Amino acid sequence: MARVFNFCAGPAALPETVLEKAAAEMLDWQGKGLSIMEMSHRSPEYVSVAKKAEQDLRDLLVIPDNYKVLFMQGGASAQFAMIPMNLLRGKKSADYINTGQWSAKAIKEAKNYCDVNVVASSEDKGFSYAPAQLGLKLNPDAAYVHYTPNETIGGVEFEYIPDTGDVPLVADFSSSILSAELDVSKFALIYAGAQKNIGPAGLCIVIVREDLLGDVIKGTPTTMDYKVVADNGSMYNTPATYSWYLAGLVFEWLKEQGGVTAMNVINLRKAKKLYDYIDASGFYANPVARNNRSIMNIPFTLKSDALDAGFIKEADARGLLNLKGHRSVGGMRASIYNAVSEQAVDALIAFMQDFASRNA
Ligand SMILES: *Cc1c(COP(=O)(O)O)cnc(C)c1O
Repeated sequence: MARVFNFCAGPAALPETVLEKAAAEMLDWQGKGLSIMEMSHRSPEYVSVAKKAEQDLRDLLVIPDNYKVLFMQGGASAQFAMIPMNLLRGKKSADYINTGQWSAKAIKEAKNYCDVNVVASSEDKGFSYAPAQLGLKLNPDAAYVHYTPNETIGGVEFEYIPDTGDVPLVADFSSSILSAELDVSKFALIYAGAQKNIGPAGLCIVIVREDLLGDVIKGTPTTMDYKVVADNGSMYNTPATYSWYLAGLVFEWLKEQGGVTAMNVINLRKAKKLYDYIDASGFYANPVARNNRSIMNIPFTLKSDALDAGFIKEADARGLLNLKGHRSVGGMRASIYNAVSEQAVDALIAFMQDFASRNA
């Protein structure tokens, strides 16, 4: 069976060579006669796989030595709670920037633990832009500032890293981690659910500055205490071993592609092609402010939403899958993560041109 072009927002496309390698190793991992899934997480073999994955991620993002890399479970959504549990550190409030559905969910969860100050919001214009630095009403007493650098549903990406002075900066990079170079030292904590740009679901990566660990709120479950997780090499309890292994294969693949700098060149080219076509088409439209257009998630509408169902049906028939926009916003969305090839984007544009010419 031929592989389709998959534009799913998550769980998303994985590099074909990674899937082939995993398939080849499925029954017999490196001559050991068993699958990596059937191995103890404490075996020297598995520990070496886990350590290599962490090191490769550290190399890819040039993560400074004073940061811990945690391989956790519960998805990015569990981090919405773990962040206040771990980072309030005696303080009573946290600052949040609201740029759409994911930041809104983070805000809602944080309210269970502290006072939340929404220091800027783009709700006034339907979450179609990222608030500027000058508009952030930051509180010097906040425990941390949380934002969503790339809003997966709205396709809105910050073009800058907020300057929060001495207040720790926390970022949900679920849908844009590894899409471009990143100065990790500007952040107190970065987290990302794996199923967009890292690997399979079931894993969430947390990169956290080590001086912030060890002062959790009362009642924090042991498995959610970053210090416990860090001190135990993310193996306080059984980690998501297969997801971790597969993420490691993706990191190897990224290194082979030339790392995040090389990926970013391709990502920018892919996104530019698609936006340029949408803007010139007179048939499709993207509502996001130009300087905040995501290079990973590109929502677009058709001339009439009466055409949506036909567009999806025809796209499916051509092997262009998962283009339906999020149920909350409608329209279309093409997620073009690292593993989505330039060829896939070209095929999508060719179909969009053809569809527009027949339905103009
Ligand atoms: C997908 C996504 C989440 C939720 O991830 P889960 O792993 O399903 O909890 C959170 N934030 C952003 C930005 C996302 O794209």
